[in-house]
Amino acid sequence: MASFTLHGIPVSRGIAIGRAHLLAPAALDVKHYLVPEEHLEAEVTRLREALAAVHRELQTLWNELPKDAPTELGAFIDVHALILSDPLISEAPLDIIRSRHYNAEWALLTQIDELSAQFDEIEDLYLRERKADIQQVAERVLKVLLGSEPLQPRAEAGADDFQAQMVVVAHDISPADMLKFRDRSFIGFVTDVGGQNSHTAIVARSLDIPAAVGMSQASTLIEQDDWVIIDGDAGVVIANPSALVLEQYRERQMAQTRARKKLNKLKKTAAVTRDGTPITLLANIELPEDCATAMEAGANGVGLFRSEFLFMGRDARIPSEDEQFEQYKKAVVAMKGRPVTIRTLDIGADKPLDQTEHTALNPALGLRAIRYCLAEPQLFLSQLRAILRASAFGKVRILIPMLAHAFEIDQSLAMIEQAKRQLRDAGQKFDANVDVGAMIEIPAAALALPMFVKRMDFLSIGTNDLIQYTLAIDRVDYEVAHLYNPLHPAVLQLIAMTISAGHKAGIDVAVCGEMAGDVKLTRLLLGMGLREFSMHPAQLLSVKQEILNSDLGLIVPQTRKVMRAMEPGAIADAVAALQAM
Ligand code: PEP
Ligand code: MG
Repeated sequence: MASFTLHGIPVSRGIAIGRAHLLAPAALDVKHYLVPEEHLEAEVTRLREALAAVHRELQTLWNELPKDAPTELGAFIDVHALILSDPLISEAPLDIIRSRHYNAEWALLTQIDELSAQFDEIEDLYLRERKADIQQVAERVLKVLLGSEPLQPRAEAGADDFQAQMVVVAHDISPADMLKFRDRSFIGFVTDVGGQNSHTAIVARSLDIPAAVGMSQASTLIEQDDWVIIDGDAGVVIANPSALVLEQYRERQMAQTRARKKLNKLKKTAAVTRDGTPITLLANIELPEDCATAMEAGANGVGLFRSEFLFMGRDARIPSEDEQFEQYKKAVVAMKGRPVTIRTLDIGADKPLDQTEHTALNPALGLRAIRYCLAEPQLFLSQLRAILRASAFGKVRILIPMLAHAFEIDQSLAMIEQAKRQLRDAGQKFDANVDVGAMIEIPAAALALPMFVKRMDFLSIGTNDLIQYTLAIDRVDYEVAHLYNPLHPAVLQLIAMTISAGHKAGIDVAVCGEMAGDVKLTRLLLGMGLREFSMHPAQLLSVKQEILNSDLGLIVPQTRKVMRAMEPGAIADAVAALQAM
């Protein structure tokens, strides 16, 4: 098999070496997990029984055909019965269960995907169209399988070698679908599309597994079961590597594991610069379960709880106030008194509530985040009540995304007061002095800070969107990914202005966008005066190490030089000098 290399966008660090698992979009709709060795034969039987049940179903259909039914109908049933008996459907998926340990649904879909690809290449139109029949037969079998949930346990992540070997290769994965990978044992992700700070990339980083996106043709060039190396630091994917290349990457992988182990020693060390300035390191989380890793990494609290992930991947059923309250409370309790900053629903753009929902003409500029919430006051109020109720169990802060207008701030604050009144009337407990903050992520907000600092208790800079909106590039679109530049002087000015305006007004300012977790930018942000960084727990210790090695006395004057520079070369040189100090 020929080796080839693809270049894309690095989104989640580290090296993954494994076998490709090509994910067809339909495959995401069924469960897929690995079956432990001792339950393989039971899983094979489950699929066999499902195939037999569909046989019986087709037989019944045939028997019950009305006498005057068109002959084509009977012929259709015959074709489906023939397909079902073909060893490619009746035997091959059973082998996949045995050899790859896939569950029945996944094994069947894998085989169907392979067959479909072969059918696509057939020139004869009539034969090519038989692909639809195969898919219909598969759907019948899947339906039967759905009604026969397996009793056997799933294999635990890392339990066996075969599990530590699968890399997902897909055209695209939505942020909601990424969440489904949390309990699975994939070790890396490659997608054809996507940008550095798309939410899919962000979830990959929070799972702390190597990923590269914007690979353009990866899902067509890489074949099922190909050996694949993902270099998540360089954004490079090597398919079918030679033994020599494989060896080199294994060595790099081992070196990275050793470096991470060393970092672990910093977990309990306070984040203080060399000159004695304390820095607050917070965690970004998507679900309350992430609090465990945040605590484990020694985070001082949660700086960004992306609450919309509780709303996604639920077939558009919105979680009730009580359901939300339980989740927020779980996070608050898990953080043991450390503050938890819950961002209100930031739905829209690349995080639709429902995959099938109609998309706005320009989703990133559409009814997103606070705009959506103000248009859906009942939904917003129920979230606010749930958050407030959680504040009875620990320190909670409310963060509002995508504010730009004074009336949006005022309406948000008024709705928080309304939610408080409703809770008081219902006799529910909450922290009446809960802090409310604004995300600064629209350039208009960064240019109108007096409007914000006078109304808000704290600010949090969302650099991901601030860059997107300042530079007018869709953060999800890989064709403009090369223009996504955190070091553009306009972006740097907006960040520095926000930090200094917040501090002058005596309120806390954090950065919770991806820039906060990028060690190459830690000193620059420190030099701008930033004292609160919020990032994925996996990035926290590297940033802490950088802080421990930084001296503000040296960094501040050099940061001024960065801020004065206007040419890309001069900015890069000045930032490199900062890092070398
Ligand atoms: C941001 O925009 O920087 C941010 C933190 O929010 P999100 O990435 O969820 O849009
Ligand atoms: Mg944002």
